[in-house]
Amino acid sequence: MAEIRLDNLNIEFGAFKAVDTVNLTVKNGEFVVYLGPSGCGKTTTLRCIAGLVKATSGDVLFDGVRVNDLSASERNIAMVFQFVSLYPHLKIRENIVFPLKARGVAKAEIARKLEWVTDIFKLGRDLDRYPGTLPPGARQKVALARAVIRDPAVLLLDEPLSAIDEQFREEMRWELGHLQRQLAVTTIYVTHDQREAMSLADRIVLMSDGRIVQVGEPDQIFFQPVSVFSGQFIGSPSMNLIDLVPVEGGLKLAGSDVRLTVQNNHIPEWAIANKRRLKLGIRPMNIHLRDEADPTSAVAIPVDDIFSVGRERYFNFRVGETIYQGVDKRKAPGGLSGHVHFAPEGFLFFDAETGRRVTSETAA
Ligand code: ATP
Repeated sequence: MAEIRLDNLNIEFGAFKAVDTVNLTVKNGEFVVYLGPSGCGKTTTLRCIAGLVKATSGDVLFDGVRVNDLSASERNIAMVFQFVSLYPHLKIRENIVFPLKARGVAKAEIARKLEWVTDIFKLGRDLDRYPGTLPPGARQKVALARAVIRDPAVLLLDEPLSAIDEQFREEMRWELGHLQRQLAVTTIYVTHDQREAMSLADRIVLMSDGRIVQVGEPDQIFFQPVSVFSGQFIGSPSMNLIDLVPVEGGLKLAGSDVRLTVQNNHIPEWAIANKRRLKLGIRPMNIHLRDEADPTSAVAIPVDDIFSVGRERYFNFRVGETIYQGVDKRKAPGGLSGHVHFAPEGFLFFDAETGRRVTSETAA
């Protein structure tokens, strides 16, 4: 196990800055997920930690020791990629023990280690098969077993589940999380799939354009996003974002007559007093269509349509030209009439210009 520290890390390709002033400490045994849109610099950061890409400036430290000048093989890391490369002509058992054989580890030790990973990954029945005869999920397990058999200090995983069918991915994700906790190996996992990040991570590192946007536990990023980008990248269906316009005693949803006021407990005083234009971020789970018209929280907004996703019923409503989403909480499915309730505890306010979140502490 190792603690990994990235200290003012910059990685440039010619004039292009792929990783921009990244600072991060990954604790011993921690499972950190790098999350962000395609091209934001996740893989480049991972490859730099692995020793496959050189830092332009800044340092990579393992347990406080600078490893910038060590090659990948000198860093005691194991890496698993999206596409598994197993040796097709070797049986699964031979594939798994390959790294140990290559290092000249004693036979008895190899046998002991093989038994250990076979047990953890439940690969007993597959040991004498060839990779080509296994489904992709099982092949990925073999790749993971091969990665951990030599006790790496750090496990680096780059979208290891994205080539696996949806139906097996869920199961593999669960197993992977379980295994990582069992092995307690410091792990960095790269993905652009926020659901994967939310379910696996001790902490998520959210990236955009080469920079870290936010670091935090999944719930922290979900409930306290620092910006519109954070708020909308995490959560499915996505967070609604509505322009607010100041009116007497409150704020109006732009493009409509819908007022959110202090009187009906929707809007705190500080949000009205705030000098900047605000946007309201609110997740669909905090906007409800109900039968009752509780005047303290309901607002009159026409409902456009209602649709089901599994057990959950969602509804779409329109404010101005934009469609937003909420959850239909009515006891029985009904038509397009009902009362739209906003749960003020789910309100997130963002500066309309910078996209940064504004709270009572930062509003002044
Ligand atoms: P993806 O999920 O699509 O791989 P990512 O967040 O992992 O996205 P990176 O692969 O790290 O992104 O790439 C970050 C940026 O750096 C991209 O614009 C990519 O084109 C660029 N890039 C990566 N490697 C090189 C390279 N060797 N030479 C030039 N540009 C590169």
